Amino acid sequence: MRTVTDVLAAMGGVGSTSNLRQAGVPRGSIEAGVLDASVQRIARGVYALPDADPLLVHAARHHAVPACVTAAAAAGLWVVSTPDVPHLAARHGRRIPGCVVHRGSVPPTYLDVVCQALRCLPPLDGLVVAESAVKKGLIQLPVLRERFPACGKSQSSAWWPESGPNPAPLSRRWPAICWKRRA
Ligand SMILES: [Zn+2]
Repeated sequence: MRTVTDVLAAMGGVGSTSNLRQAGVPRGSIEAGVLDASVQRIARGVYALPDADPLLVHAARHHAVPACVTAAAAAGLWVVSTPDVPHLAARHGRRIPGCVVHRGSVPPTYLDVVCQALRCLPPLDGLVVAESAVKKGLIQLPVLRERFPACGKSQSSAWWPESGPNPAPLSRRWPAICWKRRA
């Protein structure tokens, strides 16, 4: 049987009671972990390892997780600039001190992260995240076009040409994209 600390470590150091129970951790093991201080209860029904990432702990206290550009950077996607404050996703969408909050599903999918970045960041920064996710095969372009309504047909054609084996890098297409967006 996997221990509560093993399971929390596999989850990145933070998890809810339901996450732990689904992973096969008995309720008694969670309580025992809290008693011997190998696990901390950081909010009602939310647990963390003592050395868990402070950002994940802060987010979990508010029933949120990294999203948008913060999740993109953590996933190794291209990010133009590190944001001043973390961007989180939470179903409740309420304000969380020191963070930008996106209302949405938890945890966000790669597609969610890309759509958040496209809506939230400056245009080039969002496109860089999107192009990175497409190039890494984490999302499919037709699905992104379908999911992201702000990306009209004419704009999406400029961003990602339908044909051609090797479309020009975004950095070379960007002046034409700006021109098309202003038109
Ligand atoms: Zn954001």
